[in-house]
Parts: sequence; structure tokens; C-alpha cells
Amino acid sequence: MVLAGRGERAETRGPGAGAFVGLVLVHSGPDGAGEAARLLSWYDARARIAPREVPCGCRREDGHADPRCPHCGGSGHRTVMENPDAKFASARPVKRWQDWSLSELADLAAGRCRVIVTPDGEWHERGHGSDEQWRAQARDLLADHAHFAAIAYEFTSPDDGENGGMA
Ligand SMILES: [Zn+2]
Repeated sequence: MVLAGRGERAETRGPGAGAFVGLVLVHSGPDGAGEAARLLSWYDARARIAPREVPCGCRREDGHADPRCPHCGGSGHRTVMENPDAKFASARPVKRWQDWSLSELADLAAGRCRVIVTPDGEWHERGHGSDEQWRAQARDLLADHAHFAAIAYEFTSPDDGENGGMA
């Protein structure tokens, strides 16, 4: 149980450099795992989505694409299949709480946890703010969902490919 000892990482099986821990809050009940998987599928880099056209990066301010562009051949658009909302490459549940105390989970969330996914499917990620800001945000989110089950996941980061930019 990787998360059992807060503060002491299981170095042999703990998250690697591109890994992080998150909490998924779901309705209590036997389908909690399936519900969490459904919520997380929105953010899965492996999710298959319909091919769609996006503006090619070669399109210039005057609206013209580069006619020699190898990606779009000058059309100004290219077809992509990556999940635009991808947040992780893999997700592995490591611990589940049916009943939990706010202080217990708030401590965990303020520590190694970087993400809280609420039952509405929102992905709340630790930003660049201070530890105290994240602690307060995590505590508020948990307090708002006191009657939900919580599942801790270990995630691996998606590759920082061309999909990671603001294009
Ligand atoms: Zn192009």
C-alpha cells in the first residue's frame, strides 16, 4: 500500500519523475471504481476520440498557410486524434476510502496529492500558488464532498508532445 505511510515514500514502487498522486471523489457504493474510471476517461491521453481538424501551426497572421508545410501541405489545417484534455498517460488506483475524516484526507491532499477530481468530473489541479493555497482549496473540495467515497490514484504524466502547447 504505497500511500500508507505519509511522508515516507516507497522508493521501490513509488511514483517516478513523471508520476503524481490524485484523489477521485465518487458516490459511495459498489460502483465507485467504475464511476471513477468514467470520470477519468475524459483526461486519459490514451482515449480514442474522433479525428478532427485543427489549425496548423504554420498558418500566419495574414491567414495564409505555408504551401510547403509538411504537416498540412498548405491547407492550413491538419487532422489530429489526440485527446485535447489529456492529463495523464496511465492511472492506477492505490487506495480507497469509504468513510474518511476531513483531517486525514486533507493532510494527504496537502502532501503528495496534486489533483482532486470531483464527482462532476472537474479536474482540480494544484497550481503555482503556495502550499497554503492548495491546502485550503483541497480542504474546501473535500469538505464539499464529505459523503462521497475517495479513491487515490497514481498517475503518470502524458508525454509532453505537440499537444501540450497552447496552439
Ligand atoms: Zn501547415
